Amino acid sequence: MFRLDGKVALVTGGNGGIGLGMARGLAQAGATVVIVGRDAEKSRGAVQVLKEQGLIADALAADVTDEAAVAALMKEVMQRHGRLDILVNNAGTNIRRPVQELSLADWNTVMDTNLTSAFLCSRSAWPHLKAAGGGKVINIGSMMSIFGAAYAPAYAASKGGIVQFTRSLATAWAADNIQANAVLPGWIDTELTQKAREQVDGLHQRVLARTPAGRWGAPGDLAGIAVFLASSASDFITGTAIPVDGGYSVLG
Ligand code: NDP
Repeated sequence: MFRLDGKVALVTGGNGGIGLGMARGLAQAGATVVIVGRDAEKSRGAVQVLKEQGLIADALAADVTDEAAVAALMKEVMQRHGRLDILVNNAGTNIRRPVQELSLADWNTVMDTNLTSAFLCSRSAWPHLKAAGGGKVINIGSMMSIFGAAYAPAYAASKGGIVQFTRSLATAWAADNIQANAVLPGWIDTELTQKAREQVDGLHQRVLARTPAGRWGAPGDLAGIAVFLASSASDFITGTAIPVDGGYSVLG
């Protein structure tokens, strides 16, 4: 029920952090994973590590905010692998400034990277998911899909948008046997949050104190949910937003 043998999974931002954690999980379940990032060198390194673990992995370089690049990416996936079953929209960024200090360019960078990329990749993936007889879209939200953040308004808006976009995909594509779900990670130790810890005073301790599990998450903590939402085990689950947060979102 959880095996993904013969399936092809595209993971945006799969060359590091949460994306690589999920890509590894999908590959361990038998999928061929194609990881996408702008930094080709970093992607090559990630593929090498996965291959050394006996997993099937490939990398393609693309900026997922660029419509033409996304179209070319999907074409290349089909040429190399012949099908697409699973799309993980994980690429993301943050610019931490309060609203009154945020430029339009900053706002657009965050919205394009976190939200528009999910639209572009999903739209380009749809004919291939449909042709495969159905498929899975997994969008990565955040605790800021639920909570506000004074220091990250564009990020919170983009991650709130991801949840509503997921619900729209779920309702639009259910008839094509495509399930779309969002994952809302808690605080996970990655490059993105290492930067946050430098920029936001006291963040590290606040997260520890606020997380019932009493620790930061690791990228591997996202592998299980990725496999579940990519596999037939979740075929009647669509349009949901599932926290993977050590209890962060339920602490009163
Ligand atoms: P990282 O900074 O470690 O990884 C971000 C990834 O996105 C990199 O692989 C990067 O690759 C890729 N990326 C960024 N911009 C683009 C682009 N324009 N085109 C293609 N790829 C791009 O971050 P995380 O692993 O922490 O975050 C992954 C996702 O999880 C994000 O959506 C983030 O918002 C979300 N998240 C993270 C949390 C955390 O605590 N870490 C909590 C909640 C959500 P490259 O630089 O090569 O392009």
